Amino acid sequence: MLIGVPKEIKNHEYRIGLTPSSVRELIGQGHEVIVQKDGGASIGFTDEMYVNAGAKIIDTPEEIFATADMIVKVKEPQPHECEMLRPGQLLYTYLHLAPDPKQTELLVKSGATCIAYETVTDRFGALPLLAPMSEVAGRMSVQCGAHHLEKAQGGLGVLLGGVPGVAPAKVLIIGGGVVGTNAAKMALGMGADVTILDRSLPRLRQLDDIFGGAVRTEYSTDDAIESHALEADLVVGAVLIPGAAAPKLLTRDIISRMKKGAVVVDVAIDQGGCFETSKATTHQEPTYVVDGVVHYCVANMPGGVARTSTMALNNATLPFAVALANKGAKQALLDDANLLEGLNVHAGMVTYKAVADVLGYEY
Ligand code: NAD
Repeated sequence: MLIGVPKEIKNHEYRIGLTPSSVRELIGQGHEVIVQKDGGASIGFTDEMYVNAGAKIIDTPEEIFATADMIVKVKEPQPHECEMLRPGQLLYTYLHLAPDPKQTELLVKSGATCIAYETVTDRFGALPLLAPMSEVAGRMSVQCGAHHLEKAQGGLGVLLGGVPGVAPAKVLIIGGGVVGTNAAKMALGMGADVTILDRSLPRLRQLDDIFGGAVRTEYSTDDAIESHALEADLVVGAVLIPGAAAPKLLTRDIISRMKKGAVVVDVAIDQGGCFETSKATTHQEPTYVVDGVVHYCVANMPGGVARTSTMALNNATLPFAVALANKGAKQALLDDANLLEGLNVHAGMVTYKAVADVLGYEY
């Protein structure tokens, strides 16, 4: 199979669909890979590295879309990319179609077979191609929170771990899933005093086992949120209710009574945010202040560490890419019900029920 990797064109997107190591794996399985010139250059994956891995460098996306059997990307295709897709061509990338009728219409029109990373499942029903980005965002939330707690960044002027003789900062993590667990690992590693709140008792038990009592776990009630938030130096919002907007757990009233200079990082901002005062920000301007509390609400946190994120994403996407290339889309999808869950659009039809329902397509 001829596999094409165009350079990402979405604003400030530096990730790339395949790393040189992934290219080498695919070529080792007998495939050909074409990569757009400078596709990974800004994150240290040079054209020379791709050539050494066996890829051919191509100047324009037009040439890649015109010839490749499978296009591997990171972000949803932009309108010009959708228009270049052909019937029978395979697109493997994040799509997020439900809130995007325009993209859905263009993909349906293209006749291509489109597999969305975000709906591929594993045998536990979890989302293995989303998890790496939650790991990245969770770890980053504490790194960013610690940075913005510095005085020059508008923060309280607190060191997360304290020093001998000075108590560590208090970190409250609301939601103990993938993001929350990774945030807790970083906060603990930096020596902070960490509390995790969750609504799931089984999850609280797991967290207690994982951290061996080094973090405090509590059932997430309005009372628990309020009392811990008022004491906290850093709050990380990491809740998810699948298929729904994030609940507003930290109210404006609580925020107005928090320490001035405390930092709140709303990782759930991509689902609308779990703090009442949250609004999405960018890496260029990541924070704003409400009632003296610094808000960090970057909607695509993993983009800030694009090299790590590209490698983490490839670890999860590569096995499916290999299966698709080795067997062809039809057989790979028939053989793997979890990969089949990723099929969102095929031959002019929306093939993912939730997307069809919300956008009014026949399913
Ligand atoms: P997850 O499903 O692994 O974890 C969510 C947790 O929230 C679960 O343990 C659940 O029990 C808990 N929860 C639900 N309601 C709660 C409540 N009222 N109080 C406390 N806990 C509650 O999800 P995840 O992968 O950790 O993702 C968390 C959020 O981060 C999602 O909204 C996801 O979209 C977002 N995310 C954002 C970025 C970004 O760049 N901003 C990147 C990755 C993930």
